[in-house]
Amino acid sequence: MQTSTRNRVLLERSRTAVWHPCTQMKQHETLPIVPIARGKGCWLYDCDGRRYLDAVSSWWVNLFGHAEPRINAALADQLQQLEHVILAGFTHEPVVALSERLSAKTGGRLGHCFYGSDGASATEIALKMSFHYWRNSGSPEKTEFISLAGSYHGETLGALSVTDVALFRDTYAPLLRPSRRVPSPDWRLAAPGMSPREHAIAAAQALESHLEQHHAVTAALIVEPLVQGATGMAMYDAEYLRRARAACDRHGVHLIADEIMTGFGRTGSFFAYEQAGITPDFLCLSKGITGGYLPLSAVLTTDGVYAAFYDDEVTRGFLHSHSYTGNALACRAALATLDIFEQDDVITANRNKAAQMSARCAALATHPRVRNFRTLGMIWAFEVADAQPGFARRLFEAALARGVLLRPIGGTAGSTVYFMPPYVISEEEMDWLVSNTMAALEAAP
Ligand SMILES: *Cc1c(COP(=O)(O)O)cnc(C)c1O
Repeated sequence: MQTSTRNRVLLERSRTAVWHPCTQMKQHETLPIVPIARGKGCWLYDCDGRRYLDAVSSWWVNLFGHAEPRINAALADQLQQLEHVILAGFTHEPVVALSERLSAKTGGRLGHCFYGSDGASATEIALKMSFHYWRNSGSPEKTEFISLAGSYHGETLGALSVTDVALFRDTYAPLLRPSRRVPSPDWRLAAPGMSPREHAIAAAQALESHLEQHHAVTAALIVEPLVQGATGMAMYDAEYLRRARAACDRHGVHLIADEIMTGFGRTGSFFAYEQAGITPDFLCLSKGITGGYLPLSAVLTTDGVYAAFYDDEVTRGFLHSHSYTGNALACRAALATLDIFEQDDVITANRNKAAQMSARCAALATHPRVRNFRTLGMIWAFEVADAQPGFARRLFEAALARGVLLRPIGGTAGSTVYFMPPYVISEEEMDWLVSNTMAALEAAP
């Protein structure tokens, strides 16, 4: 199909006026930018009507497809009432209802919701709250944070300090606060003959010995429960979380669960931490929270943390704010998203979907170039053997030519390919996704 003038003009204007995220703009001299005119369900349509299956849920945010009628209707209704109001000193029904319902999703254990606008802000909020809690509680020396090797918690300076993805971090390292790294339970790193669970236990032991030495100066451990996303969909055994929870409790250190990617059903349970039978002290949410419609993030925490800030003294309060905190439209989209989870019994339905998709992946999983094929909930990932430099870009282009949006990750070679489709993906669309990915893999050295 020929690219129309309209398509070409739009991408050229974008290349000039828009500085695209996570992009070396010079690559767009030869790599076209894809102009999207509309979306419906799992599909994105360009200005010429060419369609792409959104296998990455538009950077992991979309849950129920593009232009979901129920979310659209909720937003249209909210627009007639209130688009936004300052949240300091004011409140509104959507933010109250959302806070109550998110807390209920934690079994009421995390009963206080603080809002931000994106994932990185949620990380910043959790780190600052943890530090300030200890300061208010007479332990101002607890200023250090621990994260896992290969962690990703966002790219603002505080969040980047606890991020361990070289591609994002190395350039800015001189600007970052030192923070501590402990070994990752990622099962791909298990020694030969070691099970994923044994590897997780070994990683937990390394955490334990770090805490034994440094607990007095450590405020919190931050983890991505069960799946470390941006480093390359590294999956690990829930035993790590159980042991990390116990070690943090023993040593008086907070556990921050960054469920910005894993939350809202992505790993098979509503929150990933549920699979370990634990509760974190802080829970960071964003991405899927609005079904992929509007920027919003939240940090949930316990009565105990909240109480440490509750005082006559102003500066013992959490004096952190973002202009769009608790935006009414975004909260309403989040409420509509939670409604869909209930109306469609999404967690149960996804179990079925995941099994259907995994069955279709059998040939892919045993493809001669595919290594470490793995899945959890609605995530599928694998490494590509002998991926030459530039592989990520070549696979992206080969998949795009076949009507699939894929975005390989994992370092500069980007040899980790993953599927993280909207939950509404049909069996027909699964077939399309898998067969075209196989074909793209054949075409991308
Ligand atoms: C995407 C992501 C973030 C950062 O969220 P942004 O909205 O991109 O700032 C943080 N943590 C995890 C685990 C993520 O996947």
